[in-house]
Amino acid sequence: MLGALIAAAPISVSALDSPTRKTGRSGRLNLSFEPYELQLRHAFNLARNQRTTTPGVQVQIEYDGIIGYGEASMPPYLGESVASVTEFLSRLDLSQFSDPFRIEDIHEYMESVAPNNRAAKASIDIALHDLTGKIMGQPWYKIWGLNPDNTPNTSFTISYDANPSEMKKKIEETAPFKVVKVKMGVGHDKETVEALRRVSDVPICVDANQGWADKEEALEMCHWLADRNCLFVEQPMDKSAIDDTAWLRERSPLPIIADEFIQRLPDVKRAAQAYDGINIKLMKSTGMHEAYQMATMARSLGLKVMLGCMTETSCAVSAAAQLAPLADWADLDGNLLISNDIFDGMKIVDGKITLPDRPGIGVVKV
Ligand code: MG
Repeated sequence: MLGALIAAAPISVSALDSPTRKTGRSGRLNLSFEPYELQLRHAFNLARNQRTTTPGVQVQIEYDGIIGYGEASMPPYLGESVASVTEFLSRLDLSQFSDPFRIEDIHEYMESVAPNNRAAKASIDIALHDLTGKIMGQPWYKIWGLNPDNTPNTSFTISYDANPSEMKKKIEETAPFKVVKVKMGVGHDKETVEALRRVSDVPICVDANQGWADKEEALEMCHWLADRNCLFVEQPMDKSAIDDTAWLRERSPLPIIADEFIQRLPDVKRAAQAYDGINIKLMKSTGMHEAYQMATMARSLGLKVMLGCMTETSCAVSAAAQLAPLADWADLDGNLLISNDIFDGMKIVDGKITLPDRPGIGVVKV
């Protein structure tokens, strides 16, 4: 099944190839996985280099003839790789678990195997949610009791291009979206917004990626952006600059959202000291289980919730989208940035996240 999709040699841990039982309880979880390189539609322009691919690993957990799909995506700056993910997954023995609903136990077990490895853990977590949702015959947004009509619009990301015709093309691509996300902090910050504003008054959100040098520059930018229909600013300064970020929050006309500052559940309470909201991403939170806890804790603390993603197929993006009714804002465009998606799942309809009425995480292989 997966073998046809990639050139890399498949790595089977215990058993996609073993006989699948169609009746009765097989009593064990069978994990298999293999690398799958994501091809980007546009090269990612970074400060020092260009990137045209993102490494990923596709995961399947089979139980009683039912398959749950999961995925790890590893943008290099997060420190995980195909080698580290496959090494971690190879160390797991999920066959010791006879019940796929023991998601909390399986997370505890994964923590005992090794710390960190968050994308690798997320891939298992997503596959377990897909599997258990399929066993129950329900999508996870329903299991969580969420209203699929309450999903937010997703933003679509645009970055500066020195070539005016390329920039024009990028702006044209944002047309179907109700919110545009502008990456800042690498120079040309105002030029990107001004180029967009010449053709569109669509609301923008801004991700500074820790790029603004100090609180005064950040505050000046927040005022400038507030006059240009900006909704919020994500990670304006270095994640360690907590006091300066709290200072900025006191004065900024725009909400300040934590991204690089936030990894997992214990970070949510700390974020409340300096930020107005948090950006939750499955590849950092170790998957849907903890992401749900983070979203509900953030809301209980009065924080805004944003859902983000990496470059991913519709598998991990659709898993994150199950939480979308809990989010104030979403940046779930990762599947739209690649040219080799292998799943059909969550859709963007008129700019809004639209959840499929399918069990689990709502995806099928295409
Ligand atoms: Mg960000």
